[in-house]
Amino acid sequence: TLRRSAAGSLPLSKDDAGVPGRVRVAVRLRPRNQEELVEDADFADCVELQPELKRLRLRKNNWDFDTYEFDEVLTEFASQRRVYEVVAKPVVESVLEGYNGTVMAYGQTGTGKTHTLGRLGEEDTSARGIMVRSMEDILASISPQTDSLSVSYLQLYMETIQDLLDPANDNIAIVEDPKTGDVSVPGATSVDIRDEHSFMELLRIGEAHRIAANTKLNTESSRSHAILMVHIRKSVVQTGAETSSSSQLGKSFKPLVRKGKLVVVDLAGSERMHKSGSEGHVLEETKSINLSLSALGKCINALAENSTHVPVRDSKLTRLLKDSFGGTARTSLVVTIGPSPRHRGETASTILFGQRAMKVENMLKIKEEFDYRGLSRKLEMQLDAVIAENER
Ligand code: ADP
Ligand code: MG
Repeated sequence: TLRRSAAGSLPLSKDDAGVPGRVRVAVRLRPRNQEELVEDADFADCVELQPELKRLRLRKNNWDFDTYEFDEVLTEFASQRRVYEVVAKPVVESVLEGYNGTVMAYGQTGTGKTHTLGRLGEEDTSARGIMVRSMEDILASISPQTDSLSVSYLQLYMETIQDLLDPANDNIAIVEDPKTGDVSVPGATSVDIRDEHSFMELLRIGEAHRIAANTKLNTESSRSHAILMVHIRKSVVQTGAETSSSSQLGKSFKPLVRKGKLVVVDLAGSERMHKSGSEGHVLEETKSINLSLSALGKCINALAENSTHVPVRDSKLTRLLKDSFGGTARTSLVVTIGPSPRHRGETASTILFGQRAMKVENMLKIKEEFDYRGLSRKLEMQLDAVIAENER
């Protein structure tokens, strides 16, 4: 007799099968730097971490703390490998299964966003950040014969998207597929990646162009968002179970292409900029940067409160992240903080941003050119009919 489970062979990962996943949020503390070690030697850190309890305590005064829980609490001793494993690896695995995956770093300038995401680790491979480690894992699990892998690297500055792989291409449009809701940037340079070496070279070129662009515009890279987009097309081999249940229903199946997208976002520094004394370009810039980051904050709030209106249209950043954040994606956020009591205010606001993001639920949905979900619903209905027939 047929059992109901025959139709349940969707390629979902165990923990996510059909259930909404929440945005995962980790907090990472960087060690004190030389200046803080010397100048703040008499002052205690503004936070205390309890990694085994996944708790962070933010100092209110000498004896009192506020306590916050995160999905993961990474101390100043956490290795780059461990950070990759808790923050990005589950996202990369989902992307290889056909989801949209996003990894973002949020925090004050100087707290370790780029260290966490973008470190190349050329001199010391243990220092490699999330971008390079993700690519290592992706390359290890795709087949050069049947799969394809391409990368774009962008900078978003003052509501303009620039191509970090082609500086002349400095006003890239965001395109949204009206049917699927997929967001893409077809105008951006897309480079096929064959090996780790070519990927590192691409990151180096992007970084050099970022520095040059910022010098020309007389700004700092901490004021722009860097966005790495990785597209994977993986052909999927049908399993025996699927073939047998389908042949029972007299259907023939073509091989599937599973498309995954990984977006890694090194956000602009979250620090509030001083408005006093800002004029002209600087004032405009202050507004624009606050626009994208504050739009992100507003979307997170709306998603966290299950609000029916999520203002994704309000900024380029949120439009670009529309299919990465909320909706169909698997998203991981790392909020970076420094230990210095001097930055307690910024640290507190970063922690609150992370806390709000923890409330955002993502409905997972696999994307395949072939409508797997629709097919499986049809199969399920047909099976239900057959089972009902048998039970009569
Ligand atoms: P951001 O990108 O947030 O502005 P960076 O990643 O550039 O910050 O980090 C600022 C400085 O602190 C860099 O010199 C970086 O190497 C160092 N740093 C950041 N996080 C860590 C860490 N976890 N361990 C050691 N050094 C770190
Ligand atoms: Mg940085």
